[in-house]
Amino acid sequence: MNNIVVIGGDGFCGWPTSLHLSRRGYDVTIVDNLSRRRIDDDLGAQSLTPITTIEDRITAWEEVSGRTIRFEMLDVAQEFDRLVSLLAELKPEAVVHFGEQRAAPYSMRGLTEKRYTVDNNINATHNLLAAIAGLDLDTHVVHLGTMGVYGYDGDGLEIPEGYQKVKVTGDDGTEFDREILYPTNPGSVYHMTKSMDQLLFQFYAKNDRMRITDLHQGIVWGTQTPETKLDERLINRFDYDGDYGTVLNRFLMQAAVGHPLTVHGTGGQTRAFIHIRDTVKCIQLAIENPPAHGDRVVIRNQMAETLRVRDLAELVANMTGVQVAYVNNPRNEAAENDLRVSNKSFRDLGLNPMTLQDGLLEETVEIAEKYSDRYVPQTVSAGSLWTKFQKPGVVSEV
Ligand code: NAD
Repeated sequence: MNNIVVIGGDGFCGWPTSLHLSRRGYDVTIVDNLSRRRIDDDLGAQSLTPITTIEDRITAWEEVSGRTIRFEMLDVAQEFDRLVSLLAELKPEAVVHFGEQRAAPYSMRGLTEKRYTVDNNINATHNLLAAIAGLDLDTHVVHLGTMGVYGYDGDGLEIPEGYQKVKVTGDDGTEFDREILYPTNPGSVYHMTKSMDQLLFQFYAKNDRMRITDLHQGIVWGTQTPETKLDERLINRFDYDGDYGTVLNRFLMQAAVGHPLTVHGTGGQTRAFIHIRDTVKCIQLAIENPPAHGDRVVIRNQMAETLRVRDLAELVANMTGVQVAYVNNPRNEAAENDLRVSNKSFRDLGLNPMTLQDGLLEETVEIAEKYSDRYVPQTVSAGSLWTKFQKPGVVSEV
């Protein structure tokens, strides 16, 4: 079996993906600069679950599975020559690229974080593409993009998988059929970098006939996969702080400590969700179903279901008996939106994803309640306001 490089393999999605692929016989090399752990320290926020060092994680995996994972501490955005040497040595079948700053609120904290997010994300993606092109490798790039590139002010029209058929009217009234990248509508600097990534992919697929899959992923929920459950040293991270925590993790934590679930605005924001167990399956499916040489970038929507935030709060409230409280929204976003998304391409490859209704209880009991003594209420408040036109929201309620 061939080499797979997982950039960002120490992160929330990257770690369980590395274990999933390793267990299935791939030779996995994790590339990570551990910036995510450093940002945790800077923010004074830690994963609710006690994550061990990358070295201890890898040792535990060897003991449990008998399989070796290699780790390279490398900044893909800054250490281009080392990246080139590693790729030249490994000649990987695929590189899975998770290595970006991924929190929208963090990217909107201030000028430093805006500039860091752009420098890090755009350079990381471009360095990877330029290195593969320069070495003339036949490596398939599998990138983790986001549903957020489509924007969230839709009117209920189904969002296609990356491309949109349009009719263009010429000067003389003649109509032409075109298929274009679905127009991006980013809602944060982070989402803007993911929109820009798409152009880099389009260019390298066309110019260098590179095989590229861009996965437009929904909000990932859940913590454990069958592999991370094998030993407590393998446990995956659970973020609930105002920058990196997702809305669901915040609700679960609030429920675990008996605090009302704080819904921003009307809670009418609709978002797409997928469980981490399905994320890792999707990555394997993407690796095993690459585009052909000369194909355009394959874009797959990686999500299981869509839900309104207030319905999500109701789901958690009904399961746990806590109240729901409505507070000001710190984000500059549509108060209510519909979201219908095609996920045909993964369903056609056999994905049968789990739903929140199926898995939420396990998450409540085995993670939020089990580790609630590690909960730090001060970290829950969102530290970012989206624009200077907004008034500070009442969001540091815990
Ligand atoms: P994460 O922050 O937990 O993991 C990202 C990892 O990449 C971290 O370990 C970090 O140290 C590393 N990294 C960042 N910049 C790097 C660099 N320059 N060089 C080397 N390593 C670097 O994030 P995650 O939740 O696992 O997300 C992974 C990817 O999936 C991101 O690109 C994100 O945009 C995408 N995604 C995540 C979600 C979600 O809900 N978590 C949803 C949609 C898309």
